[in-house]
Amino acid sequence: MEPCPFCNIVAGEVPARIVHRDEQCTAFWDIHPQAPVHLLIVPNRHLADLNEAAAEPALLGHMLGVAAQLARRMIGGGYRLVINTGREAGQSVFHLHLHLLGGRRMGWPPG
Ligand code: 5GP
Ligand code: ZN
Repeated sequence: MEPCPFCNIVAGEVPARIVHRDEQCTAFWDIHPQAPVHLLIVPNRHLADLNEAAAEPALLGHMLGVAAQLARRMIGGGYRLVINTGREAGQSVFHLHLHLLGGRRMGWPPG
Protein backbone atom coordinates (compact mmCIF):
# COMPACT_ATOMS: atom_id res chain seq x y z
CA MET A 1 0.00 0.00 0.00
CA GLU A 2 1.18 3.52 -0.79
CA PRO A 3 1.76 5.62 2.33
CA CYS A 4 -1.25 7.82 3.02
CA PRO A 5 -0.48 11.35 4.30
CA PHE A 6 -3.70 11.62 6.31
CA CYS A 7 -3.29 8.16 7.92
CA ASN A 8 0.17 9.37 8.96
CA ILE A 9 -1.29 12.52 10.53
CA VAL A 10 -4.02 10.52 12.34
CA ALA A 11 -1.32 8.15 13.66
CA GLY A 12 0.77 11.11 14.88
CA GLU A 13 3.67 10.13 12.62
CA VAL A 14 3.54 13.37 10.62
CA PRO A 15 2.97 16.72 12.35
CA ALA A 16 -0.18 18.74 11.69
CA ARG A 17 -2.00 21.61 13.43
CA ILE A 18 -4.73 19.44 14.93
CA VAL A 19 -7.82 21.29 16.19
CA HIS A 20 -10.12 18.36 17.02
CA ARG A 21 -9.75 14.68 17.64
CA ASP A 22 -12.24 12.02 18.78
CA GLU A 23 -12.69 8.29 18.37
CA GLN A 24 -14.01 8.65 14.81
CA CYS A 25 -12.37 11.64 13.16
CA THR A 26 -9.53 14.16 13.28
CA ALA A 27 -9.50 17.79 12.09
CA PHE A 28 -6.40 19.82 11.26
CA TRP A 29 -5.31 22.88 9.27
CA ASP A 30 -4.76 22.43 5.53
CA ILE A 31 -1.06 22.83 4.71
CA HIS A 32 -1.92 25.28 1.86
CA PRO A 33 -4.90 27.23 3.23
CA GLN A 34 -7.26 28.71 0.61
CA ALA A 35 -9.10 30.92 3.12
CA PRO A 36 -8.33 32.53 6.51
CA VAL A 37 -9.69 29.33 8.07
CA HIS A 38 -9.15 26.13 6.05
CA LEU A 39 -9.48 22.88 7.98
CA LEU A 40 -9.63 19.26 6.87
CA ILE A 41 -11.84 16.78 8.70
CA VAL A 42 -10.87 13.16 8.08
CA PRO A 43 -12.09 9.78 9.36
CA ASN A 44 -9.48 8.11 11.57
CA ARG A 45 -9.90 4.91 9.56
CA HIS A 46 -8.69 4.97 5.95
CA LEU A 47 -11.56 5.41 3.48
CA ALA A 48 -10.43 6.56 0.03
CA ASP A 49 -13.33 8.84 -0.81
CA LEU A 50 -17.01 9.60 -0.26
CA ASN A 51 -18.05 6.63 -2.41
CA GLU A 52 -16.18 4.30 -0.07
CA ALA A 53 -17.80 5.96 2.94
CA ALA A 54 -21.33 5.94 1.54
CA ALA A 55 -22.28 2.84 3.51
CA GLU A 56 -21.35 4.62 6.77
CA PRO A 57 -23.97 7.33 7.29
CA ALA A 58 -23.33 7.53 11.04
CA LEU A 59 -19.66 8.36 10.46
CA LEU A 60 -20.50 10.91 7.76
CA GLY A 61 -23.13 12.54 9.97
CA HIS A 62 -20.66 12.71 12.83
CA MET A 63 -18.07 14.41 10.61
CA LEU A 64 -20.65 16.98 9.48
CA GLY A 65 -21.55 17.70 13.09
CA VAL A 66 -17.89 18.19 13.96
CA ALA A 67 -17.55 20.54 10.97
CA ALA A 68 -20.45 22.67 12.22
CA GLN A 69 -18.98 22.82 15.74
CA LEU A 70 -15.57 23.83 14.38
CA ALA A 71 -17.18 26.46 12.14
CA ARG A 72 -18.97 27.95 15.14
CA ARG A 73 -15.77 27.91 17.20
CA MET A 74 -13.27 29.09 14.59
CA ILE A 75 -15.21 31.03 11.93
CA GLY A 76 -18.40 32.39 13.42
CA GLY A 77 -19.99 33.54 10.15
CA GLY A 78 -20.73 31.72 6.91
CA TYR A 79 -18.59 28.86 5.72
CA ARG A 80 -18.29 26.27 2.98
CA LEU A 81 -17.83 22.49 3.14
CA VAL A 82 -16.29 20.77 0.11
CA ILE A 83 -15.70 17.09 -0.61
CA ASN A 84 -13.76 16.66 -3.85
CA THR A 85 -14.44 13.12 -5.10
CA GLY A 86 -12.29 11.73 -7.92
CA ARG A 87 -9.42 13.26 -9.85
CA GLU A 88 -11.81 15.06 -12.24
CA ALA A 89 -13.23 16.96 -9.25
CA GLY A 90 -9.76 17.89 -7.97
CA GLN A 91 -9.26 15.19 -5.34
CA SER A 92 -5.51 14.81 -4.79
CA VAL A 93 -5.36 12.93 -1.46
CA PHE A 94 -7.25 9.66 -1.52
CA HIS A 95 -8.25 9.57 2.13
CA LEU A 96 -11.74 11.07 2.54
CA HIS A 97 -11.65 14.66 3.81
CA LEU A 98 -14.11 17.50 4.28
CA HIS A 99 -12.66 20.92 3.50
CA LEU A 100 -14.05 23.52 5.92
CA LEU A 101 -13.40 27.01 4.51
CA GLY A 102 -14.37 30.36 5.97
CA GLY A 103 -13.34 33.84 7.01
CA ARG A 104 -13.75 35.42 3.59
CA ARG A 105 -16.47 35.89 0.99
CA MET A 106 -16.79 32.84 -1.30
CA GLY A 107 -17.49 32.98 -5.02
CA TRP A 108 -20.02 30.80 -6.81
CA PRO A 109 -19.85 28.70 -8.91
CA PRO A 110 -16.57 27.18 -7.68
CA GLY A 111 -13.84 26.69 -10.28
P1 5GP B 1 -8.06 17.53 -2.28
O1 5GP B 1 -7.38 18.21 -3.45
O2 5GP B 1 -7.74 16.06 -2.26
O3 5GP B 1 -9.52 17.82 -2.17
O4 5GP B 1 -7.43 18.20 -1.00
C1 5GP B 1 -6.24 17.78 -0.41
C2 5GP B 1 -5.83 18.88 0.53
O5 5GP B 1 -4.89 18.34 1.42
C3 5GP B 1 -5.16 20.06 -0.18
O6 5GP B 1 -5.89 21.25 0.14
C4 5GP B 1 -3.74 20.07 0.38
O7 5GP B 1 -3.24 21.37 0.60
C5 5GP B 1 -3.90 19.29 1.69
N1 5GP B 1 -2.73 18.51 2.07
C6 5GP B 1 -2.01 17.66 1.28
N2 5GP B 1 -1.04 17.07 2.00
C7 5GP B 1 -1.14 17.57 3.26
C8 5GP B 1 -0.39 17.33 4.45
O8 5GP B 1 0.57 16.55 4.50
N3 5GP B 1 -0.78 18.02 5.56
C9 5GP B 1 -1.85 18.89 5.55
N4 5GP B 1 -2.14 19.50 6.70
N5 5GP B 1 -2.57 19.12 4.44
C10 5GP B 1 -2.21 18.48 3.31
ZN1 ZN C 1 -5.38 7.17 4.82
